[in-house]
Amino acid sequence: MTYLRRLPKFAYAGPTTLSEVTALVADTAPGEILLLAGGTDAILQMRRRERTPKTVVGLKGVAGLDGIAEESDGGLTIGATATLAALAASPLVRRRFGLLAEAVLQIGGVELRNVATIGGNVAGALPCADLPPALMTLGAKVKLAGPKGARWVALDEFFPEFSRTAAQPNEILAAIGLPKPAPGSAGTYLKFHDRHSMDMTVVGVAAFVTWDAKKKAVAEVRLAYANSAPTVMRARQAEAVLKGQAPSDDALAACAEEACKETKPRTSWRANGAYRLELIRALTKRAIRRACEKAQARPGDAP
Ligand SMILES: Cc1cc2nc3c(=O)[nH]c(=O)nc-3n(C[C@H](O)[C@H](O)[C@H](O)COP(=O)(O)OP(=O)(O)OC[C@H]3O[C@@H](n4cnc5c(N)ncnc54)[C@H](O)[C@@H]3O)c2cc1C
Repeated sequence: MTYLRRLPKFAYAGPTTLSEVTALVADTAPGEILLLAGGTDAILQMRRRERTPKTVVGLKGVAGLDGIAEESDGGLTIGATATLAALAASPLVRRRFGLLAEAVLQIGGVELRNVATIGGNVAGALPCADLPPALMTLGAKVKLAGPKGARWVALDEFFPEFSRTAAQPNEILAAIGLPKPAPGSAGTYLKFHDRHSMDMTVVGVAAFVTWDAKKKAVAEVRLAYANSAPTVMRARQAEAVLKGQAPSDDALAACAEEACKETKPRTSWRANGAYRLELIRALTKRAIRRACEKAQARPGDAP
């Protein structure tokens, strides 16, 4: 049992520009600084003494870091401090990237979504986080800003191991970029949890498909999983099993079977590994079916 204690003592910095943030984190030793976005995870980590930073750097006052903007090529750039509520309310997200809105609305409750951010959900690197699977299947990249400038990393490669990201200690997650979805594509996010809301994911499955109307088959498919391995992960072998196939019961069963081989769900007090595998099997089939139905209903449209 981990007890929540009073917050430890720390200095607080409230930068207003991204360059001030990168200057603050430039020469610090790992663990010395904590970046605070919505604080829904970070404050608990400090109260449990899992994090005892010298300085907390608040990100919510950084100008322009919460924007949600459409790019000229049809892609979307989402600033790290955009709240989950802002994403769910954004007409751009709902109309063009419905899979993301669907995943956002399955996180916590209204109060939590009003403060929690997309950057905190992704940078927290928890295997049970709900947005990384949805974002991975949408082909997301993360923009990391550091003292030497910015670089983009594919979200697929952002979680090298449990609770760790590919960011250097002196880099912050500045934005998330999504490419324009192909016509005839759609996706869905299915999450299994014990109660209706305010509970962490037991298993989450995101499926995104591009439908080939002529062949009545799945032209492209991406599958990603929450709480099914030490990190959020794509199941590329399972994707390969379904690619080019009609989504028949047999094809979906073969794909789901492959996903069970690729994932490595753990046993915890929430659920044991065998139970999670059953969820992976069932939710994979259900998510692909639902994504195919959506894609067929909107042949020339984005998700
Ligand atoms: C009651 C409750 C229910 C919850 N339910 C869910 C749920 O259903 N699904 C789910 O996925 N999560 C859930 N969470 C977890 C959490 O709320 C979310 O992950 C949230 O999106 C975290 O965002 P935040 O802005 O609050 O992050 P913070 O708590 O501020 O930060 C989280 C971590 O990310 C780091 N960080 C934040 N922003 C950046 C950045 N820009 N660059 C680099 N590092 C950064 C912080 O230093 C910290 O380590 C729940 C939490 C609570 C308390």
